[in-house]
Amino acid sequence: MKNNSMKTFAKQFLQEIKNHQYIVIFHHQRPDGDCLGSQQALKLWIKKMFPNKTIYAVGSNENLFPFLNWKFNKIPSNKILSKALGIVVDANYANRIICNELILENKLKTLIRIDHHPEKDDINYKLRFVDPTYSASAEQIADLIKLIAPSSLDKKISQFLYLGIYTDSGRFFYDTTTARTHALVSWLLESNFKVFDLHKNLSLRTISELEFNKYVLSNYKTHKNVIYCFISYHDIKKLKLKDNNTNRVDFLANIEGYDIWIFFIQNVDKSIRVRLRSNKFNIAQLAHQYNGGGHKKASGAIIYDEKEILEIVKKAALIRD
Ligand code: AMP
Repeated sequence: MKNNSMKTFAKQFLQEIKNHQYIVIFHHQRPDGDCLGSQQALKLWIKKMFPNKTIYAVGSNENLFPFLNWKFNKIPSNKILSKALGIVVDANYANRIICNELILENKLKTLIRIDHHPEKDDINYKLRFVDPTYSASAEQIADLIKLIAPSSLDKKISQFLYLGIYTDSGRFFYDTTTARTHALVSWLLESNFKVFDLHKNLSLRTISELEFNKYVLSNYKTHKNVIYCFISYHDIKKLKLKDNNTNRVDFLANIEGYDIWIFFIQNVDKSIRVRLRSNKFNIAQLAHQYNGGGHKKASGAIIYDEKEILEIVKKAALIRD
């Protein structure tokens, strides 16, 4: 059974698409498989349903998943934007969205948010489909397509949606993975895209990632039930790591006795990206204390002082719920 709010959203969403000739789809900063896959799938699907509409996928995959056929568009003119519908996928606050100046300067006519993050937002959206019970925004979009026009699904759309669900559910590992997730994935697989090729490419690792793994295994620290690693910008350069190579916080995941794991990744401007994960506790509350956010078991924040590293580690070890 679809919940009423989802059904109501689907109806209004379709109407908004019909009402606009130009549609701009946004993903979040530091993109991942979910925001990128959701954006591309939505663009392909709207184009398939309404071939005369002009759809813009703005942003970049920033070298992520280079084996997929990414297509991004230039930002349209202000004249077009003033008539356009903007759809934000997988993001909440304006400062997390790529090309957010278009939103902050109120250039778009109408805005819609489709997101599985639990947080509120600071944007005047006309419609929202926000539901943290979905493993991924791509799962929300799959659900919408299945409800609105199931026969419109094709291999390309399925592959992008699968990418979003597979990556954001931690390969169907996190507790956000439900019967609905598997039912929708089963439906996506019916379109027969090459799922093994996708898995193979997603699992491929480079020597520099292997070296980074070695670095993490040699440099991690522990405090009570918290395992963590600080990766200085100096070491990132030394290891010749690209920005998204440092993402692998899962190198410290699921070690017996350590139910919270954290990466502290220093940026070129000395700010430090905090990537918090847990298989037991709600660590989002800690991320909020440092103006960050995210999901209960996967959150993030930015800090500006190395002294805060130990402070966060100690606070993490005190979390009891
Ligand atoms: P990440 O560690 O970057 O994969 O982020 C995990 C989750 O935390 C993401 O889904 C984001 O929603 C959230 N997140 C990460 N960094 C921030 C931040 N600086 N502010 C708010 N939310 C964040």
